Amino acid sequence: MPATPAWPPHSLPRLFVDQALAEGAGVTVDGNYLAAVLRLGPGDQVKLFDDRTGEWLAEIVEAGKRRVTLQVGDRLRERENVPDLWLLFAPVKRGRIDWLVEKATELGVARLQPVLTRRTIVDRLNLDRLRAHAIEAAEQCERTALPALEEPRKLDAVLKSWPGDRPLYFADEAGGEPFAPPPGPAAILIGPEGGFTDEERAAIRALPQARPVSLGPRILRADTAALAAIALWMGAAGDWSRHGKR
Ligand code: SAM
Repeated sequence: MPATPAWPPHSLPRLFVDQALAEGAGVTVDGNYLAAVLRLGPGDQVKLFDDRTGEWLAEIVEAGKRRVTLQVGDRLRERENVPDLWLLFAPVKRGRIDWLVEKATELGVARLQPVLTRRTIVDRLNLDRLRAHAIEAAEQCERTALPALEEPRKLDAVLKSWPGDRPLYFADEAGGEPFAPPPGPAAILIGPEGGFTDEERAAIRALPQARPVSLGPRILRADTAALAAIALWMGAAGDWSRHGKR
């Protein structure tokens, strides 16, 4: 006898909707993805999540190429508790930054904070585009919560208002301790492609909450360094070690 398949199947399309969901509620979304691309119609099911109440099963009531209307059914999952990790990063070029936001979302960060440093070469960010990448990644990787995406801030302002109870793991290519973080709230700071200036490095190191860490003997690109550091943190202090097989 084949095992009873899990219901609903993992493969149902998943969509983020920016409205609070509840059983019986009606939801209207753009028809392009569900109707035009996936060719779904009335009676077909999808999963919806709202970054507020969790993930819900929903059934298509009407489908047009412009608009699809759904009715929300059972709640499948509560909104998850996201591991309390912030990523602070100096913006890099388009393409690389899109990739960074997508992968950091998949890896599980709670907050993305762009930081402007002396050698940051990108000073204007399209946050709407980055948010769209975060949403797409969350839809794909089954997150029920989006990462908070903050407006860019200058490094000195970030350091001045740094919370007392949050270690700032500063990825320093000039050397630091191997990165083996304990549990608890944390943030990772990654520099721009040109690295930090000596003054910036001194200002960061002067912060009592700063912990200079090394990511090994090779100089990594900023996006690689960010993802390597997130992975190390998630494995040691995040939710990877608590999560078993599906
Ligand atoms: N231009 C710099 C240099 O040649 O020394 C390299 C900067 S690196 C491309 C960009 C950022 O990634 C650094 O500021 C640092 O935060 C991080 N990074 C890269 N490799 C690292 C390593 N091995 N250890 C710690 N941080 C690293």
